[in-house]
Amino acid sequence: MTLSTPRSQALFDRALAVTPGGVNSPVRAFGGVGGTPRVIDHASGAWLTDVDGNRYVDLISSWGPMILGHAHPDVLAAVTGAAQQGFSFGTASENEVALAEEIVRRVEPLEQVRLVSSGTEATMSALRLARGVTGRSVVVKFAGCYHGHVDALLAQAGSGVATFALPDSSGVPASAAGETLVLPYNDVAALEAAFAERGGEIAAVITEASPGNMGVVPPEPGFTSALRRITRQHGALLISDEVMTGFRASRSGWYGLETGAKGDAPGGYPDGPPDLFTFGKVMGGGFPAAAFGGSAEIMAHLAPEGPVYQAGTLSGNPVATAAGLATLRGCTEDLYPRLEQAATTIAEAASAALTEASVPHTIQWAGSMFSVFFREGPVRDFADAGTQDTAAHARFFHSMLEQGVHLPPSAFEVWFVSDALDQDAIGTVLDALPAAARAAAA
Ligand SMILES: *Cc1c(COP(=O)(O)O)cnc(C)c1O
Repeated sequence: MTLSTPRSQALFDRALAVTPGGVNSPVRAFGGVGGTPRVIDHASGAWLTDVDGNRYVDLISSWGPMILGHAHPDVLAAVTGAAQQGFSFGTASENEVALAEEIVRRVEPLEQVRLVSSGTEATMSALRLARGVTGRSVVVKFAGCYHGHVDALLAQAGSGVATFALPDSSGVPASAAGETLVLPYNDVAALEAAFAERGGEIAAVITEASPGNMGVVPPEPGFTSALRRITRQHGALLISDEVMTGFRASRSGWYGLETGAKGDAPGGYPDGPPDLFTFGKVMGGGFPAAAFGGSAEIMAHLAPEGPVYQAGTLSGNPVATAAGLATLRGCTEDLYPRLEQAATTIAEAASAALTEASVPHTIQWAGSMFSVFFREGPVRDFADAGTQDTAAHARFFHSMLEQGVHLPPSAFEVWFVSDALDQDAIGTVLDALPAAARAAAA
């Protein structure tokens, strides 16, 4: 069986003429799996429909934001209502206050947030704030953690960069990357050594709260608390990037899981919470909205209160914040067990099919986030993730696509579930898995 995709092909050819690689974000180009991307016409609930009328169960969920499913009625009503009142004012408006309140309520250490339009802006601004607060310039990041396309953070990043195996990006000046120390994830000794040598120069350590951009590689017990202890000892800030995990791993993001009542909490923060958090994806509900925040004391360094400049014409946009607010209101306590149920059903079936076909694999979890690595586990860091059989993944991906299931087109990504995955959608995924596993083995 081959799906007929002439319109996708024609549109993608037009895109190639006017847009580099035919896409507006690299991982969409199918570079990691080959072939031509499907051009989507519309989406509803758990399903994407391409311009040729083919339907796919969506396990990308826009890389996280569509946690309630596509065009959720409550979000749609909020967006339509907001749009009818005007699109952007360039002055204060109510939705941005309500969204900030909702975020601050959910993540206990937060007192204030500043809204921005993308996760990249959030991490870039958090970094500037950390440098402003400490008067230091060096930043520590971990290999395989992706924090958006911020110059200083595009060193050994995961996500699309991992897919394309670029060690770095050209166009990033040596001076920008030269202030960045890249360490292996889950390696406390390497962190201690870096701080022993340059502790007095380090403004901040930035980490994905639980990395998802090299596939899901959760912090080992004690790693997060070591980050907090060591940064505090040396007067550096700890930035927890929850752009992916925020309001997805749990109602309060990874922070909620790590500190909450769940028995699987891998350590928590005996020495206090991170200083700054960044958010995006889910909190925008599919629109461009993101945020960074921390204590009122630290946030007071930002303009107009303080000397660290940060601004945005569309920051706190009333339509985007309406979408984000309606989405977060749908992210209730009882949503997460449902997401975990759907994720578990799919992950267990995937593992059974791959085992049946003798394909080496391992599945790793962070709350309701999971990813399938095409190698034996455990995967502890970026070096481990890089030894997957990406060719097997590509064959698996294309078989799933042909059978009407759209996985992320990269072996280094989370399979993002949504609350719209019903029996019909999950059944389609389960039915497709055995043939895809055989294709991976071939
Ligand atoms: C997606 C992501 C970003 C970047 O967000 P954009 O909105 O794509 O700029 C930053 N950090 C993490 C952890 C992410 O997953």
